Amino acid sequence: MEDCVFCNIKKTKKFIIENKWAFAVKDSYPVTKGHTLIISKRHESDFFNLPEEEKTEALKLVVKMKERLLLKDANIDGFNIGINIGRASGQTVPHVHIHIIPRRRGDCKDPTGGVRGVIPEKQAY
Ligand code: AMP
Ligand code: ZN
Repeated sequence: MEDCVFCNIKKTKKFIIENKWAFAVKDSYPVTKGHTLIISKRHESDFFNLPEEEKTEALKLVVKMKERLLLKDANIDGFNIGINIGRASGQTVPHVHIHIIPRRRGDCKDPTGGVRGVIPEKQAY
């Protein structure tokens, strides 16, 4: 799509790794060091609408990227992975992408609940 940030990203950003259906780039506004996005090569806004093969290939890149991040940074203690689907969920770029966010002990005051933090007051339980 002509005016989609992620359809145009190859003009400005280097892919870290890629396969037939997806590629990895650094997030421009990283939540933590190493925050990476796995982006579908085809324009589609909703992860659930990707054909099975494209979902599988995108998830394979998540696993590869995780291994690469661990090799590069011995201080990584964990990860959050996440996909925002729809504006109500907080999706800001309507082109499928999977966030991989490396976590390190002490990187925030209280990590309890992790991705439950999409509703901040429900994060810890
Ligand atoms: P979401 O809210 O799930 O749609 O996330 C969009 C993500 O894309 C955010 O984490 C942004 O920091 C990131 N982002 C926006 N523009 C770019 C870009 N040109 N290159 C890399 N990451 C980007
Ligand atoms: Zn796009």
